[in-house]
Amino acid sequence: MKHVHADRYIWQTSRTVPRSVLIDNIAFYITADKHNQVHYKKGQSILVEGDTIRKIMPARQAVKLRRQVDLVYDASVRSGVVVMPGFVNAHAHPPMYLLRSTTLLHNHQATTEEALHISRKVERAMHLSDQIIAALGDFTEQQKFGTTTVLSHYHTPAATTVAAQQAYIRLVDAISVASKTDPSANIATATKALRTHHPLLTHGITIHTLERVTLRELQVVQKFLARHPKLILTIHCGETLAEVEAIIHKHQLRPIELLAKAKLLSPRLILSHAVHFTTDEIQLLAKYKVGIVHLPTSNRLHKSGQFQYGNYVVAGLGNRIALGTDSVISKSKLDLVSEAFQSKLMHQDTQRPASFEELFLMLTSNAAHVVGLGKQVGRILPGYKADLTFWKLKDRMFMPFDPTQPETLLGNFITHGGYTARDVMVNGRFVITGRRHNLVNESELLTKLEQHHQALRKRVKV
Ligand SMILES: [Zn+2]
Repeated sequence: MKHVHADRYIWQTSRTVPRSVLIDNIAFYITADKHNQVHYKKGQSILVEGDTIRKIMPARQAVKLRRQVDLVYDASVRSGVVVMPGFVNAHAHPPMYLLRSTTLLHNHQATTEEALHISRKVERAMHLSDQIIAALGDFTEQQKFGTTTVLSHYHTPAATTVAAQQAYIRLVDAISVASKTDPSANIATATKALRTHHPLLTHGITIHTLERVTLRELQVVQKFLARHPKLILTIHCGETLAEVEAIIHKHQLRPIELLAKAKLLSPRLILSHAVHFTTDEIQLLAKYKVGIVHLPTSNRLHKSGQFQYGNYVVAGLGNRIALGTDSVISKSKLDLVSEAFQSKLMHQDTQRPASFEELFLMLTSNAAHVVGLGKQVGRILPGYKADLTFWKLKDRMFMPFDPTQPETLLGNFITHGGYTARDVMVNGRFVITGRRHNLVNESELLTKLEQHHQALRKRVKV
């Protein structure tokens, strides 16, 4: 990689990866503190050493450091930038990126199942090379919208880990141990995936849904998790009424009762969708601090139902809710801020709407805790990993705002509904500069994506 040259970047080394970066004189930065209070700080500088935020200080105290670091990022140029933590996407299926345009959702007479029929056919025909290029397309799109950590729920670790390294994105790679589409998904394949190490990689496992698994299989998963105390487990759960009814029919238990019986309720469990739970089930989830992923666009598009945000907050689980994109067949634009906006709209007429600050926590610190990285990412604090997003202040999503009430910046940003970040830093490295990816040639990537997509369509004759 060559030096990134833009007028905010002042290089003081010949190294391509700087050992130290001073992000100097920031107009505003927005972050949760360690007590999860949201702060809006003005005129500060951030010192990054290696992959870590080392020090945060008023810009006037950073004068000496300007000559000592490898790279100065001058955040005051023109009207300056707003810095936020990189966002954390708690639910995605990156290798499905090639399936954009394969649903029949444009046909308003098609049922959800009919709409997804072709997508599933195409998905089953994908080879490893398709899955790698798809995941790379997915990760790089997410990075452009400010996401720096992704939880991938899928069954092809060979694809997701390779693509994440190429894009340089933090990956929680949750590998299927029971999948609808892949009969080879089991504990043995998941165990093998645990041997892959990378500084940006952590591991997890998934069960696609509880509809088809037996109690015995859940108990095997519970034992596996007991042997691997760092792993998270994620499940699509409570997404549709039909799924809940199928679980009751099979087990004579509601979904959360079944998970309780299998001793799987814990802070390491992450349930995606969580639309159709009773108040008693939500209280049980709160007791065990289970992580919840809210996917409002996916729920609307697939007519799944309405997430009961207020019930989770009343139960005390408000700080365990994250947002997710799902795949391109459930949302299309892989931008988390538009999910925050969708949440705002979905809950505004209920007794307990979501505030802008709560939505910001769902994008950052709360989501980081849910995916098991709460002490490492999701906040701009000394000791945290340097995963940062840089947004031009003089831009439509912020202007006009009230400088005496900087929280208006956040309200504007979320209601604007999602935009590309100007610069993005992951683990101390700038992966995006001036909205361009520094490690992946986007033009070549799009050409390859189209080639793979067309070849797939031919292979399955759709
Ligand atoms: Zn999903």
